[in-house]
Amino acid sequence: MSEINELYQEVILDHNREPRNFQKLAGANRQGVGYNPLCGDKMTVYLKLEGDRVQEISFLGSGCAISKASASMMTMNVKGKTREEIEQLFSRFHKMVTGNLDPSAISELGKLKVFFGVSEFPARVKCATLAWHTLEAALEGKGEMVSTEKEEEHVAS
Ligand code: ZN
Repeated sequence: MSEINELYQEVILDHNREPRNFQKLAGANRQGVGYNPLCGDKMTVYLKLEGDRVQEISFLGSGCAISKASASMMTMNVKGKTREEIEQLFSRFHKMVTGNLDPSAISELGKLKVFFGVSEFPARVKCATLAWHTLEAALEGKGEMVSTEKEEEHVAS
């Protein structure tokens, strides 16, 4: 198991070093801005949305390795998907990083399963989910910045 964890860690570090789709997207028609004040992660997600489908996606930002790698891998995994498919994927991903996903369902997350280890570090869950919340904000066309702290208030109320 520790070998697998090392392998996963290597993937995360690779995406942190060389984030994919790390640029402003020419022709983007949606964008979202996200901030995780607990860690200082900030990012902007750019989308080219056609109908219900994400045709192109990119991001820019600064933050810890987990937030950056998560955004990088998210862009690779949602390209070409519909809003509904993205909702399902995020729901599964969220369950995995909070330790609530049935282990038999983890393989359905494909390469995103490298973030499984985050479930052991509750403080890093927001780093791993920031990109997804920012993507949702972009899909909803909200101009306001989303903060991971709003999510907590929402859950608590
Ligand atoms: Zn972070």
